[in-house]
Amino acid sequence: MGDDLGFEFDAKNFVAIPCPKIDRRTLPDPLAYLEREGLHIIKRDGNWAHIRCPFSNSGDEKKPSLLVHVRSGGFKCVTCQKTHRDIVGLHRHLHPNVGFFAAVAAVGGRFHE
Ligand SMILES: [Zn+2]
Repeated sequence: MGDDLGFEFDAKNFVAIPCPKIDRRTLPDPLAYLEREGLHIIKRDGNWAHIRCPFSNSGDEKKPSLLVHVRSGGFKCVTCQKTHRDIVGLHRHLHPNVGFFAAVAAVGGRFHE
C-alpha cells in the first residue's frame, strides 16, 4: 500500500519505488468522499463517522464497524481490521485494481512539486 513517505512498495517486483509526496490539502473532504462512494454514515461519534464496512460480511452489517475519521480520512474496521491513514488508502481498498498514482488522481489529490 502506498503512502506519502516517499516510497511506494511494488509487491510484484519486491522493490520500493520512490514517489512524490501527496499534497494533503488536495485530498477530498472524507465525508463528501464517502457519500460519493455510496457509503452512508450510520452514526457520528465526535470526529468518527461509522459506516457499514464494505469488506466485512459483504457489506451486510447490522452494526456499522468501519470508523472513518472525518478530518483525516484515516479509517479502521473493528471487525476485519482493515486500516489506513487516509482516503487514498480507503479508495485502494474499495478499488483493489487501482494503483497508488491512479488512486490519488481518482480522489482528486495532487502531489507536491
Ligand atoms: Zn471490515
